[in-house]
Amino acid sequence: LFVTFEGGDGAGKTTQIALAQAWLEEQGHAVVTTREPGGTELGVAIRQLILHGDHVAPRAEALLYAADRAHHVETLVRPALERGDVILQDRYIDSSIAYQGAGRALDAADIESISRWATTGLTPELTVLLDVDPADGRARRGGRGGEDRLEREADDFHARVRDHFLALAARDPEGYLVVDASLPREDIAAAVRTRLEQTLAA
Ligand code: C5P
Ligand code: MG
Repeated sequence: LFVTFEGGDGAGKTTQIALAQAWLEEQGHAVVTTREPGGTELGVAIRQLILHGDHVAPRAEALLYAADRAHHVETLVRPALERGDVILQDRYIDSSIAYQGAGRALDAADIESISRWATTGLTPELTVLLDVDPADGRARRGGRGGEDRLEREADDFHARVRDHFLALAARDPEGYLVVDASLPREDIAAAVRTRLEQTLAA
């Protein structure tokens, strides 16, 4: 089972992945948690290039994310899925569509097709979208600056990203659980568990 967690910076993805992992393991599932960019050794190096460089041309940035994703899917995600593990992944293709597409004003359809090519079409069974207001996300990360270049982007960038995530979810209600990230974390975790139970039973 391949489950991805998406949403703006400060949405609480890391926390919810940890809570879902603990619950799934209690149920006896083998769980792998991972993230993009940076889920592999090569990915860590790519993450460093993207996030800590001074300036990366938007198309180069999009291709670096795609390279990270191609390597991650082939060497880590697909093998885990073949073992029958549950994968809980922090960010996937939707993040590229939202950040590199809507955020950077590259063509979202191009970003999507690069990602499909990079992953040979691997699609999550479920995407949990933690919908966060950019101002709340910023506050949760603790003040104005972020750990990296992208977290310091203006609020209108993050507003476009948020709208694009919501549009992707609206396109495929069956494949998404959209949760208000401002709810108490236990309420969010309960909504995620309910949906995971349904997905596992299906
Ligand atoms: O979620 P995480 O902290 O790993 O993301 C690091 C940064 O990379 C964030 O600022 C996020 O907005 C950005 N990012 C991006 N495009 C992606 C994935 C992450 O711009 N496809
Ligand atoms: Mg971050």
